[in-house]
Amino acid sequence: MAKQFKPETLCVQAGWTPKKGEPRVLPIYQSTTFKYETSEQMARLFDLEESGYFYTRLQNPTNDAVAAKIAALEGGVGAMLTSSGQSANFYAIFNICQAGDHFVCSSTIYGGTFNLFGVTLKKLGIEVTFVNPDAPEEEISAAFRPNTKALFGETISNPTLEVLDIEKFARIAHKNGVPLIVDNTFPTPINCRPFQWGADIVVHSTTKYMDGHATSVGGAIVDSGNFDWEAHADKFPGLCTPDNSYHGLTYTKAFGKMAYITKATAQLMRDLGSAQSPQNAFLLNLGLETLYLRMNQHCKNAMAVAQYLSKNDKVAWVNYCGLPGNKYYKLAQKYLPNGSCGVISFGLKGGREVSIKFMDSLKLAAIVTHVADARTCVLHPASHTHRQLTDQQLSEAGIRPDLIRFSVGIENADDIIADIDQALNA
Ligand SMILES: *Cc1c(COP(=O)(O)O)cnc(C)c1O
Repeated sequence: MAKQFKPETLCVQAGWTPKKGEPRVLPIYQSTTFKYETSEQMARLFDLEESGYFYTRLQNPTNDAVAAKIAALEGGVGAMLTSSGQSANFYAIFNICQAGDHFVCSSTIYGGTFNLFGVTLKKLGIEVTFVNPDAPEEEISAAFRPNTKALFGETISNPTLEVLDIEKFARIAHKNGVPLIVDNTFPTPINCRPFQWGADIVVHSTTKYMDGHATSVGGAIVDSGNFDWEAHADKFPGLCTPDNSYHGLTYTKAFGKMAYITKATAQLMRDLGSAQSPQNAFLLNLGLETLYLRMNQHCKNAMAVAQYLSKNDKVAWVNYCGLPGNKYYKLAQKYLPNGSCGVISFGLKGGREVSIKFMDSLKLAAIVTHVADARTCVLHPASHTHRQLTDQQLSEAGIRPDLIRFSVGIENADDIIADIDQALNA
């Protein structure tokens, strides 16, 4: 779909363009496999000499249409859906790192990603160095080694809500000859398109705003097509030298700008699975159709809630990058001029115990592990997602013991505020 269309239009129209007599709405191709007339036709698919469907673990038309919509929204050349945000992050790194390699990562990232990178990838022989994303360029650059293959960060970190200086990170990555990978889950491409600021690869947990209705766990990897792998061929042998599992095909030579995303599909999906189910991709697509409308409402409501909280004397502190005076306000104005996301964090005077009592008193906002969907929800990381950590470890992860993560939904802002108000007075 033409890139000149605005995001609202892409949300509704991109990815699926039916031809004469075909269904107007993207169909669910609930089929593991696809039929061919001759053995030769199918053999060509197996050799990547022709594109086409043969097995849903690698590609499926429903998934591809939804991936194409996400690629259009991000302004990338191609995308791949995965079964979760975790598998998207795993594949994004594993596509260019192997045992003996290293990458650099912002320390303020989603807890699941932190564990995947710091613990599980280490077992596969891939090492990570976590850096303070607000540190000066030289300090972050000092973490790079000859075997470093990528730099990773989150546009808005979950749950600490720090805004990444994407241009700074892109500069550091490119000076060191590696791509910048950005997890753009919280702002979505409606509020930030990291490729415009120099990111090379974008990843998503589509489970959050993109699906938006808390129905389907999923993920996506989007390739900008901009990183010049051949210019750093010594670092990326997996892309720039022959793949024996495809009769010696070289991804950069055969697929050009699509090398990275094609390898992720042809090699990682083939060998490791983690395909999204076509049924989930269909639901994700329905969510994407209203993403633009929902993000605007999430941001409008979150701003109203943040302003209410910052004026309430029972509240100790509020963290929302849209509030003037927030540490990340300036970066947010640059990278997220139309709004950031619906997630706010705050603490109550009286600390942990008072925070817990407050949460238990909420009636409209539900206590759930989930974040970033249509319904307002709330979580206390110190007693839920991060409950195994001591107060000391929590503060090292940037999570205060009294931190309440409040995910503002698309209900009426007055109703959300009234619920908070009655819970504060309970
Ligand atoms: C939730 C989340 C993930 C993990 O995604 P799942 O779909 O739950 O596997 C990764 N990154 C961020 C920023 C998230 O919020």
